[in-house]
This record gives sequence, C-alpha cells and structure tokens, in this order.
Amino acid sequence: MLNYGINYKERKIMNENMKIILDKIKEYDRIFIFRHFRPDGDAIGSTKGLARILRLTFPEKDIRLLNDDFSDYLAFLGGEDEPAPDEDYATALGIVMDTGTATRVSNQKYSLCKEIIKFDHHIPVDSYGDYEWVEEHRSSTCEMVAAFYNAFKDELKIDKEAATYIYTGMVTDSGRFRFREVSPETMRLAGSMLELGIDTDALYANLYMKDFDSLKFEGYVYKKIKISKNGVASVYVDGAMKEKFSLTNEQASSVVSYMETIKGSLIWIAFIDSGDGSIRVRLRSRFVTVSELGERYNGGGHACAAGATVYSVAEMKKLLKEADELLKEYKETHEGWL
Ligand code: AMP
Repeated sequence: MLNYGINYKERKIMNENMKIILDKIKEYDRIFIFRHFRPDGDAIGSTKGLARILRLTFPEKDIRLLNDDFSDYLAFLGGEDEPAPDEDYATALGIVMDTGTATRVSNQKYSLCKEIIKFDHHIPVDSYGDYEWVEEHRSSTCEMVAAFYNAFKDELKIDKEAATYIYTGMVTDSGRFRFREVSPETMRLAGSMLELGIDTDALYANLYMKDFDSLKFEGYVYKKIKISKNGVASVYVDGAMKEKFSLTNEQASSVVSYMETIKGSLIWIAFIDSGDGSIRVRLRSRFVTVSELGERYNGGGHACAAGATVYSVAEMKKLLKEADELLKEYKETHEGWL
C-alpha cells in the first residue's frame, strides 16, 4: 500500500470517498464521463485514463466519454465518443472530472445523469453532484486517478495506454512536476504509472514540438509583452493578432507560458480576445496567490494558476491594476522571491 503523505483523518476521508466511487461504478451498467471545456492534459488524461481502466475492468459496462469540445494540441491522445441520446443519460452514472464549477462542464447534458460524482482537484468554489471527491492538495486530477487505481489495484485493471493518459495529465498539470502541489506521493504515483512502460520520448515530443510558424508568433509576442510598475507581465492577443497569425483560440491562449521566466514578474497574465465580446484571462504566478483575483472577475482556479473572463479593455485594465497592487503588496511584505 502506498503512503499517501497525508494525515490519518484526511486519508480516512479519501479512502471513504474512493470506496463510494468504486461502489457506484460497480452499481451502474452505464457510466458517462465528463470534463471541463477547453480541455487541458489533465482533463483529457483523467477522463480517458479512468475510462480505459473501467473498460478493461468492466468490459460489459457501457462507458462513454461525452464532451462537446476538443484540443488540437492534445489530439495525439485521441478523441471522444459519439454523442448519446438524452434517454441514455437518465440511466447513467455521470463522473465529472477536473472541473471545479458546474458551468465549466463541457457537456451540460451531464446534469441529466441519474447520479453525478464530482472528481476534482480544484479549490472547491462550487459544489455540485450527488457525491464529491475533491482533493485540492493534489497536483492533478490524474494524480487522483493514479491514487484510485493504486488503492484498488487488486480489483482494477490497467495497461500502458491508460497509464499514458494518466501520466500525461500528471506531467502537464504539475508544470512538469515543478509546481508546489507536487508531493513525494505525486512522484510515487507517477512512478507507478511509469512502471507500466510509457513511451516518454513520444509523449514529450508530442508535448514540446512546434510548427515553425508558431515560433515566429512567439517571437512577435515577446516584443508585445508589457511589464507594469510593480512587475506584472501581460500580453493581450487581440483579434488583429489572431488574424495576422491565423491563430485558433487554443494557440492564442498558449502565450501565457511565454512570460513565466521573467525575473521580478511574479504575476503574469495573458488576455485573449475570444471573438464573442469576451476576453479570456489566464492568470499565473510564483509565490503570490492569484485565484482570488480571478474569482473577482468571473473565474477562479488554483493559487498560482487561475482563469477569469472580462468583457472590455477597460475591465482588462482594471484587473491589471489590481494585479499590480497585489504584487506591490506581496513584494513589500515578503522576502526571498525572484
Ligand atoms: P487556464 O488559464 O484556463 O488554464 O486556467 C487555470 C486554472 O484555473 C485551471 O485549473 C482552470 O480550471 C481554472 N479556471 C480557469 N478559468 C476559470 C473560471 N472561469 N472559473 C473557475 N476556474 C477557472
């Protein structure tokens, strides 16, 4: 048995939650699995990883991944299942993964399911579903899937394909095992997936390789980055920039990662014109908590990686000003940051 690196009470709650989920899975013949929209590696990895484990273990059950959108970047992990008729939902157990708030579920028909389980690692802003297993200290939902598998490994089946999905989410959501949520337990669980023979060369090639054109866009963005008085780095990808480089929303959104290594810029923010009157905000930080800032602008997320939505350039500037004040206060009251 793995040592979970948490105290007895927390471990007891975790074990109870995992047992409820396994019992519910056993109870239902039909299980539909959902995730958040604009999927990332963790959303796709956790849903596909759990689905694969369940299909291997319970081949007689009807297990489907039913989500409305997809990611080009993560297309190498494969797609979703065909949409299901509404009446099928009524007899299904719905498992919603990696999704903190109900409004962010990709396929809103999830609510038609007979019973719903929330299976997530985000700070719980919004409660939904009949059962919740939420562990915000986890570096990814995939880490929870790995823990779930390891807790019941005598009963569940896994293979290299499932392990690859799970490991991909663990790698991507933890910033390649860099973020503060990464614990000794994360590494043990990642190790348990690696033991199944994942092709890490192929995985990292898929995650890192870029088209030459996207490098040109990257160079352009570097010139557009602005630094506020107290060090907040930001860039706004407006409609014109998207058109100039023929960018999808997903490609435009990736600019947030270009700013993560600027010394003194402990907060960095990408604003992306969504083309529908709203501007997507991607907030990132080192040391400073930015999730509350996101919550004030229709969003939320983790302490150092959050999201928000604003509806005008004026609101964008207001958010930036608040971020600048937050960073000023942080720098004045803390030492040792970079
Ligand atoms: P993103 O910048 O979209 O990758 O989001 C960073 C983190 O914040 C992810 O864990 C998201 O799930 C979360 N997040 C992003 N947008 C929102 C939102 N509008 N409400 C709640 N959480 C969000």
